[in-house]
Amino acid sequence: MSQYWSAVVHGLTPYVPGEQPKLPDLVKLNTNENPYGPSPKALQAIAAETSDHLRLYPDPNGDSLKLAVAAHYGVTTQQVFVGNGSDEVLAHVFLALLKHDEPILFPDITYSFYPVYCGLYGVEYREVPLDADFAINPDDYHGPNGGVIFPNPNAPTGRLLPLDAVAAIARHNPDRVVVVDEAYIDFGGDSAIRLIDQHPNLLVTQTLSKSRSLAGLRVGFAVGHPDLIDALERVKNSFNSYPLDRLALAGATAAMNDNAHFEHTRQAVIATRERLNAGLAQLGFAVLPSAANFVFARHPQHDAAQLAAALRERAIIVRHFKHPRIDQFLRITVGTEQQTDVLLAALAEIL
Ligand code: PMP
Repeated sequence: MSQYWSAVVHGLTPYVPGEQPKLPDLVKLNTNENPYGPSPKALQAIAAETSDHLRLYPDPNGDSLKLAVAAHYGVTTQQVFVGNGSDEVLAHVFLALLKHDEPILFPDITYSFYPVYCGLYGVEYREVPLDADFAINPDDYHGPNGGVIFPNPNAPTGRLLPLDAVAAIARHNPDRVVVVDEAYIDFGGDSAIRLIDQHPNLLVTQTLSKSRSLAGLRVGFAVGHPDLIDALERVKNSFNSYPLDRLALAGATAAMNDNAHFEHTRQAVIATRERLNAGLAQLGFAVLPSAANFVFARHPQHDAAQLAAALRERAIIVRHFKHPRIDQFLRITVGTEQQTDVLLAALAEIL
């Protein structure tokens, strides 16, 4: 069938997401989902929307969610863009805001969707090596480039870049867009959204998949200068008139407005992360400092791929990456207290 494909399709290396097994009794710690579930108010809003309104098209502006995001961060709705997961928001960012005639910069160890978008949109890129301790060095991100993108905290390392270093990267690249992908920021960092008024070239993306526990709904957003948002809206409106379906809009708006559930569940994840860190250290693992809802750990005496396989035999799934610099690490999602007990007990048995 490939004779029917356009040349674009032949050149693509699509992103492969982590395993999504159907078995309910697996301890699934491989794709950084939130174990606590979304706000009950989001579930109620989705149910109400299902019974009443699916006959009708959704709001083409996504205004209720833009208002909720704007209120949460003290910005205006003209500074907010919404889309189907931050993956889709990022796709629009790659098309609308990163220059296609100069290589863009991102860390050599980072979210593996970035090179996929480069392939899709024909964007050249240069991978900037992380420091020896897996930190991003802001001084490495200047010189001629088509823009910069990095997650903060970085994935899969979990390491956080302080806000003054994020500001330094924005300052180093005044004529280029600097994108901070804050998928995991709520688990331990301050959002760079507070920097956007001083740095009109800074765009921050976030997701409701992690700290709001709505990965299945597919909602993300970007916050930045109205000119950047305008560029994203133009690309989006050339692709699809409706940023989100009715269920996603209703659920995401209710989730953003439920601060009590958000605070309670993210504090639970942070507390369990610290217990997981301590348990892994006790078993001899070296664990990178994480500001995310996962940890990145290596055992000096045990091969990471073999450990992942041994855990899989015990119905526990964690993530192992084949990249040569990190192939001795496991990325482990912070689950419930009980899942953490099961994981630590299994590791104690294996080691
Ligand atoms: N950025 C990073 C760094 C991620 O790890 C993820 C989740 N895989 C995303 C963006 C995308 O999240 P979503 O599309 O679910 O909003």
